[in-house]
Amino acid sequence: MSGATVAVVIATVPSAVELRAMLDAERRTGRTVGFVPTMGALHAGHASLVRAASAADVVVVSVFVNPLQFAPSEDLAAYPRSLDADVAVAEDSGASIVFAPDEQEMYPGGRDSVLTTVAVPALAATMEGASRPTHFAGVCTVVAKLLNVVGPCTAYFGEKDFQQLAVIRRMVADLSFPVEVIGCPTLREPDGLALSSRNVYLSAEERAVAPVLQRALRAGAEAVAGGQRGADEVRSLMASIIEAAPLGALDYLEVADPTSLEALSVLTGPCRLLGAVRFGRTRLIDNVAAVPGGVR
Ligand code: AMP
Repeated sequence: MSGATVAVVIATVPSAVELRAMLDAERRTGRTVGFVPTMGALHAGHASLVRAASAADVVVVSVFVNPLQFAPSEDLAAYPRSLDADVAVAEDSGASIVFAPDEQEMYPGGRDSVLTTVAVPALAATMEGASRPTHFAGVCTVVAKLLNVVGPCTAYFGEKDFQQLAVIRRMVADLSFPVEVIGCPTLREPDGLALSSRNVYLSAEERAVAPVLQRALRAGAEAVAGGQRGADEVRSLMASIIEAAPLGALDYLEVADPTSLEALSVLTGPCRLLGAVRFGRTRLIDNVAAVPGGVR
């Protein structure tokens, strides 16, 4: 059964109580729920998650720019917001419900009134967490809240945010959420740049060089496939490619275990290459899989 067979073809639901009641009613009739949490400014990457979620009978997309995951110095106020366009993208991709709460609905006493924090420190301290120390606690807290509002479902997250995906998988397992987490591949521009809501911040010059991050990660993956077993050598190779390009300031490059996210030294099995680079005021992240040559 597809999402389009639900009574409500597309509804924008601002209230958590109303959403939960709608989804409970659907589940009582045996329908399954697919859920795609987003911060809006939907692009083809988000749309691919919604299409994947359409394996369920009812597809919910949430649109909420979560203040808890932005540090005071970050781009919360400037973050692109386009709810009408987002509803159209969600509908075109197969969503039946858009949950677009305001801050008051999510944090009734205001963002500073939230006294509970959900965190997975062992997976959140490095890479994105080192650069953005409060980020993952903000992500986990809002995703935990959204999963409690949506209830039993299959939830779809992009590999684009690979560390986030690992953190959420762990949170869902450790806290027994009645949720199956599905990771979806990264959608890219033809020149390799990963689609991101933040790409709109790039100047024309920055946009032209931004694919260097993906190129560096791919070169690292090719070196691993070609027999390079030293993670330091792979990191150096990737860094030299970033440093040779203009405008990009390297934040981090890592060669990590795909599940524990631990930094590796000798590569003997599948690993993940992850990086972040600043182009002016825009910080971009990306990652690719790598498999040592000869390993299956
Ligand atoms: P965001 O709106 O940035 O919080 O992202 C919402 C979801 O979309 C997250 O699970 C992201 O990983 C995913 N996502 C963002 N960009 C892409 C992309 N280029 N390809 C696939 N999924 C993506």
